[in-house]
Amino acid sequence: MCFAELGWTLSGSAKAILDIALQRHLFWSQHPHTLASHVFAAAHLWPGETWAKCSEALMQECFFSDCRTWVAADNSATGFRTHVRRQLLDSCAVAWQDAVSHHTRPMSITCVSTDISDAFRAQHSFDTLLRQRSLCCLRAGLLSLGHLNFRISRAAAQQCILCNKMTRSPFTHVMLYCERTSEHRTTLAARGIDVDSTQFLRLPPSHAGFSDVVNFAHYVHNASSSFWKGRSAN
Ligand SMILES: [Zn+2]
Repeated sequence: MCFAELGWTLSGSAKAILDIALQRHLFWSQHPHTLASHVFAAAHLWPGETWAKCSEALMQECFFSDCRTWVAADNSATGFRTHVRRQLLDSCAVAWQDAVSHHTRPMSITCVSTDISDAFRAQHSFDTLLRQRSLCCLRAGLLSLGHLNFRISRAAAQQCILCNKMTRSPFTHVMLYCERTSEHRTTLAARGIDVDSTQFLRLPPSHAGFSDVVNFAHYVHNASSSFWKGRSAN
């Protein structure tokens, strides 16, 4: 979700690997002129598990070029960083595609092509930027929009949290058909946005109606939070 919505292209572990690779590059580029780099180099031959040996094993596991060779050839930390980051980006993208390939409800995350930084570039208001979180939650299926006797349910037919009508798809009902959200659909339609399908949730931040879509999502997010507040989630 963070990959798709926030543009976090590196996972936490990939960021740690990048830091370790850069630290190894720094030590080798300083060797043998600093005490730290001298100890680091010697630690590759010490018995037991030293940071130098463990980090070297990790680099080999990730198939990175030996930074000693890199230092000898170029000594450019920037070039090494670009090289390692590119490999990590590629591996994270593959892992992410695989992880979200089965996430299709309420909508496919792989088709969400917006990036939160796009909203900054589009110069939306601060409220819209904050409320974008609601849109992210809605698209990821993190909001419970259906209930059965005021409880979370896996039943095929559930009641809408807003109007209490029975529906087989609370998400589609709330976004496209619920009378309690008709005002938001009217606003979107007035901007020429097709409200016959939930595809409008994929409008890019550059679209003139983006803030209206975000306001719609924020309304639904608030309604969901209010409904479930204090109620049993069992
Ligand atoms: Zn409803």
